[in-house]
Amino acid sequence: MSWFTRKKAPKPPPESSDMGDKPHIPDDIWTKCPSCSQVLYTKELRRSFGVCSKCNYHFRLKASERLPQLVDRHSFEEIDSNLRSQDILSFRDSKESYRSKLRRAERKTGMPECVITGRARLHSIPVAIGMFEFDFCGGSMGSVVGEKLARMVEMALAEKLPVIIVSASGGARMQEGMYSLMQMAKVSAAIARLSQANLPYISVLTNPTTGGVAASFAMQGDIILAEPKALIGFAGPRVIEQTIKQKLPEGFQRSEFLLEHGMLDRIVQRTVMKDELAAILSHLGFGVG
Ligand SMILES: [Zn+2]
Repeated sequence: MSWFTRKKAPKPPPESSDMGDKPHIPDDIWTKCPSCSQVLYTKELRRSFGVCSKCNYHFRLKASERLPQLVDRHSFEEIDSNLRSQDILSFRDSKESYRSKLRRAERKTGMPECVITGRARLHSIPVAIGMFEFDFCGGSMGSVVGEKLARMVEMALAEKLPVIIVSASGGARMQEGMYSLMQMAKVSAAIARLSQANLPYISVLTNPTTGGVAASFAMQGDIILAEPKALIGFAGPRVIEQTIKQKLPEGFQRSEFLLEHGMLDRIVQRTVMKDELAAILSHLGFGVG
């Protein structure tokens, strides 16, 4: 018996460990890539912006992880952080009430809603930026999401700022019924005003961007960028297959397929997304403010 124990380097989990298809980066020391099964050192994975060094799989990021990758340090000033969803329809499904779902989402993410909006600087260029948190009710768009995005666009109009929205959403928030669907029109109308004022709107699509968000402002960008292999579409592939009674082509609704069919302007690696956004803004005449 020795008086001390030598600290051994942590071993990677065995190949057989079932991580499931979890797109998030866990707090564990090692992370298994859900795409290529490579075991990655989590610290290293975080340093590489949550991108697998072997197969380029883009892990899903929380808004709090993504924001520092895109904007200059300490430059983000949040607006409307106090807006919270109301249970207008007293909605309850078989499992729980909407009210309790909202509370649970807030506990899980530490955020009062699934979108954060504000002003920030991107390589010193002032921008208005909105970012979705998918872990909060699947990034679904309710009244508060629409209101926050519309107000952010109004702020951009008043301050003559370009707008960037980073989407990650399952679509409309069904617990708010028609109020949720109305947000598609509201945000689209705000974005149209941006266009009249000659201010650019860059839409960044991440995995997944679907439903009412994809069917409105996410696809209305003057420039639309997407991360590699992001799922982008309105209805899911299974629903479409059942409706049209045909097998869908390989890679359907992924960024690469959409780019090939003219729905996107560019697929951009997460590691260079900030540089790419700054380069586009600079080409459009927006400089250091
Ligand atoms: Zn991988």
